Amino acid sequence: MSKISRRNFTRLAGASLATLSTPLFAPNVLGQAKPKLVVIGGGPGGGTLAHYVQKDAAGAIDVTLVEPQRTFTTCFFSNLYIGGLRNFNSITFNYDKLSQRGVRMAHLMAASIDRDKKQVVLAGGTRLPYDRLAIAPGVDLKFDSVPGYSEEAAQIMPHAWKAGPQTQLLASKLNALKDGDLIVMVAPPNPYRCPPGPYERVSMFAHVLKKKGFKKSRIVILDPKPAFSKQAVFAEGWEKHYPGMIEWQDPKMHGGIKNVDPKTGEIKTDLASYKAALANIIPAQMAGKIARDAALVDPSGFCPIDPENMKSKMDANIFVLGDACIAGDMPKSAFSANSQAKVAAMVIRSELAGARAFPARYSNTCWSLIETDDAIKIGAAYEPGEGKIKQASGFVSQKGEAADIHKQNYKESVDWYAGIVADIFG
Ligand SMILES: Cc1cc2nc3c(=O)[nH]c(=O)nc-3n(C[C@H](O)[C@H](O)[C@H](O)COP(=O)(O)OP(=O)(O)OC[C@H]3O[C@@H](n4cnc5c(N)ncnc54)[C@H](O)[C@@H]3O)c2cc1C
Repeated sequence: MSKISRRNFTRLAGASLATLSTPLFAPNVLGQAKPKLVVIGGGPGGGTLAHYVQKDAAGAIDVTLVEPQRTFTTCFFSNLYIGGLRNFNSITFNYDKLSQRGVRMAHLMAASIDRDKKQVVLAGGTRLPYDRLAIAPGVDLKFDSVPGYSEEAAQIMPHAWKAGPQTQLLASKLNALKDGDLIVMVAPPNPYRCPPGPYERVSMFAHVLKKKGFKKSRIVILDPKPAFSKQAVFAEGWEKHYPGMIEWQDPKMHGGIKNVDPKTGEIKTDLASYKAALANIIPAQMAGKIARDAALVDPSGFCPIDPENMKSKMDANIFVLGDACIAGDMPKSAFSANSQAKVAAMVIRSELAGARAFPARYSNTCWSLIETDDAIKIGAAYEPGEGKIKQASGFVSQKGEAADIHKQNYKESVDWYAGIVADIFG
């Protein structure tokens, strides 16, 4: 029993961790007095952190990644899957490489965090002690932020804002449309993951309709926001590739979403009623449940952090990464989560293994595909300032750019995707 291997841990974690007793995880049993890092969430934030601490600390820190899913489908590039430009396997990954690199995988939900005892309680009751904890649980959806919408309604009117079966459902509904059918998207209010994501998705809807030769179908976006990311360049691209197909309405135009009805497909605003053959409803968002339950959120529903190091403002032993945190000027994106994780990895190695730490620097770029080989981008560099993560410099695609530039943007995004998934999944 004292020679429990990493492989065994992984297998036991998946099959029956709930039945294991707490002392299995005590340092003496594992034969280590190493400092322990526990990471909750195996997405861009948590996966990158676990990978980098394991790799760069070269065994000096014991790293456990708690993630219930055995495979992870990326939201980023899921719009390209919806557009038929990627297959599902190409955006789905497992944790085998991280495990082979020495990260202990616990494929269970973290049920709670005992901050006083510095332990994570797994589903089933097993406790994982930690010296430092990092959480990157992503977002939960506020289903009731859209009147008439619910988790059940999402089986008919998918949100597809968490990748996996929802994404496949949305794609299959899109592919079943007939010419003349109406698509309605209810876009989310700020703050939400991936600010340009809804508009890239609409572009991919239009790409599919155009490819099928549909002339009569239309897409209506009902937006609770008065403006959106890269709006002018999106509008230019829509006019170029899909003239007359996409209609965007701000709150002044629709007057507010009054109800969505999954039984009839009807979407009522203050001023009109739409009968959607495909409704994509993306509700408001908040930090994942584990963050809320552990009282790491503020009234906004997200987690305040120290911009110098990504530590929770509520608990200096806990780091919060990615969509769940309040990252100042940084958008909620996989690129941001990955960048934040690298800062946290450096700080954790410094605190637990005596490595050198440097001032925090962050970066982000969000590419959006409008049509084949036609991508636009927005990005920035950030550093701590004025008590938040503050934008230091930035760039955004401009109207009237040459097609070559947009083709190059797309190539950049493909290279970025290959790099970030290697960062997250080893
Ligand atoms: C359609 C769409 C397109 C996008 N495109 C882009 C893009 O092009 N570029 C970009 O940079 N970003 C993009 N994003 C945003 C990006 O997907 C997110 O910002 C990113 O996934 C956030 O990473 P995260 O690690 O914070 O959370 P997530 O990716 O949500 O990962 C959280 C993980 O935590 C796990 N978890 C949650 N609770 C627990 C718990 N209690 N115990 C254990 N595990 C738990 C979950 O199972 C999940 O695996 C897009 C998003 C969408 C929806």
